[in-house]
Amino acid sequence: TQQTVAILGGGISGLSAAYYLSKSSPKTKILLVEGSKRVGGWINSQRVSPGFHASTSSTKSTSNDDILFEVGPRSLRPVGAGGAAILGMANDLQLQNEMLFVSKSDPSAKNRYIYYNGEINTLPNSLSSLLLKQPPVFKSVLKSILSEPFVNAGSGQDESLYSFVSRRFNDHVALNLVGAVTHGIYAGDAKQLSVKSTMRMLYDAERSSGSVIKGMLASKPSTPIPKVEQAIIDELNDPDITKTTSVFGFRNGTETLSNELKNWLQQQPNVTIITNKHIKKIDKTADGNSMKIYSDNASVCVDHVISAIPSRKLDPLLTKDNALVNLTVNPSVNVAVVNFAFEEDVDLKYNGFGFLTPHPDSSCQLPVPGTLGVVFDSNAMYGQENAQNSKLVKMTVMMGGHMWNKTFGGVQPNKLDPQIAFERASKALGVYLGITQKPKFSMANVLQECIPQYIVGHESRLGELHQDIKHKYKHLLSVTGASYLGVSVPDCVKNSRLLVNDLLDKGALG
Ligand code: FAD
Repeated sequence: TQQTVAILGGGISGLSAAYYLSKSSPKTKILLVEGSKRVGGWINSQRVSPGFHASTSSTKSTSNDDILFEVGPRSLRPVGAGGAAILGMANDLQLQNEMLFVSKSDPSAKNRYIYYNGEINTLPNSLSSLLLKQPPVFKSVLKSILSEPFVNAGSGQDESLYSFVSRRFNDHVALNLVGAVTHGIYAGDAKQLSVKSTMRMLYDAERSSGSVIKGMLASKPSTPIPKVEQAIIDELNDPDITKTTSVFGFRNGTETLSNELKNWLQQQPNVTIITNKHIKKIDKTADGNSMKIYSDNASVCVDHVISAIPSRKLDPLLTKDNALVNLTVNPSVNVAVVNFAFEEDVDLKYNGFGFLTPHPDSSCQLPVPGTLGVVFDSNAMYGQENAQNSKLVKMTVMMGGHMWNKTFGGVQPNKLDPQIAFERASKALGVYLGITQKPKFSMANVLQECIPQYIVGHESRLGELHQDIKHKYKHLLSVTGASYLGVSVPDCVKNSRLLVNDLLDKGALG
């Protein structure tokens, strides 16, 4: 008999699960249910007209004078199985002409900055620059690199990134370098995030070589690529792309990918997409052989549910008897995202990707607290604007994250006026970059609980969760999405693909 699978959530994780399932198992009926009016989740690319736009709900512009602003993800990394999966998917969807590739030799790939002690520091991008010209933020770094191989290995227990790096290197590296990197990826706190779940290669290097540096220099990688992932990498038509490309994106923004996935899915006879329908409850049927999903005014029986919604949103959908452990342990941070485009005469002195700020416990004073970093979009991804706008200087200020309460004086994200976020971000541009001109285009969005934080112990909690799912739901329920095994878009695509393969292999579906 034909099986029906419900996929909850039409972000990139849910869309990808539907895509791979539809391709591998054309006989399975797939019902993708999305609560909001649009698919894509945090992927949100807007073309807007000149002026200020508060939030994006009604800003879609049709004029020729518009500019592309990314609210969510903007640059995708082509590395590993995630990179290969997403490149393969884009190929299958025939998006080659929509894609933009930034070469590893591009200044934006080479030049990255950290704000430290009153100035923007350029990070060394080669061994010679590391040895010859160390910026102030790199002061004690070389010494800590040289002594790291002699530091005894830890117990192997999960710990925070800060704890790991300050133990093996020093406090300065942990707060000012790693603290800044975690602002860039998670808008998160290096003192809370798990080393095992966010920078696995560091953890594995200590386990296998006794040292991060020795692990990096070892002939064998400390974190071997699992077979199932290598198989995805081996499928790539053009493996050179991953070697020469730093990041890639889309001419019309990342939303091209989610929209084209939706269009492809809508053409498949085995797929139905329903938007604007919130799932309110899911449960096993009385005989325990199938699942029932409920919206406000309807319910439907299915053979399997793939939850691709955030774990904390899955929790309230479950009945008391079949509640699952650990879904709400990890917090998610709020981020204010403010996009700017200035006339070309604005003097952005830096030809690189953007700058990040150190952890707030760093001795370095941050003149505008709560600024996580600024992406120089017109450097980092060019080719998204028409000739008339191609010289505009675009950038995005990200604020809040784990520092939300200090950033906006305790105002909760649902109460924050985007105009206030815009003013704060404008101040940050003035103080950090000396840019005080009025932007030609600008937009402010407050993203609530947008990035899950894999806090210490995440991996073992995930193990318990999977046990609990197996115990309570057998093969009726599975989970994917940014809450579990990686927050990047390529990770979301990869993990949905691996989940679908696994379910088909186990005979749970298809
Ligand atoms: P989501 O996008 O959260 O999708 C979940 C979907 O489920 C949503 O559409 C939601 O409406 C729906 N839903 C929730 N509850 C229900 C319900 N009860 N019933 C039905 N539907 C429901 N990654 C990169 O790789 N590169 C970047 O440059 C990058 N930049 C980022 C910048 C920002 C500001 C943010 C926030 C993230 C960024 N990321 C980036 C990370 C990446 O965008 C996200 O982790 C990823 O898009 C998450 O996808 P998802 O499908 O797992 O979850």
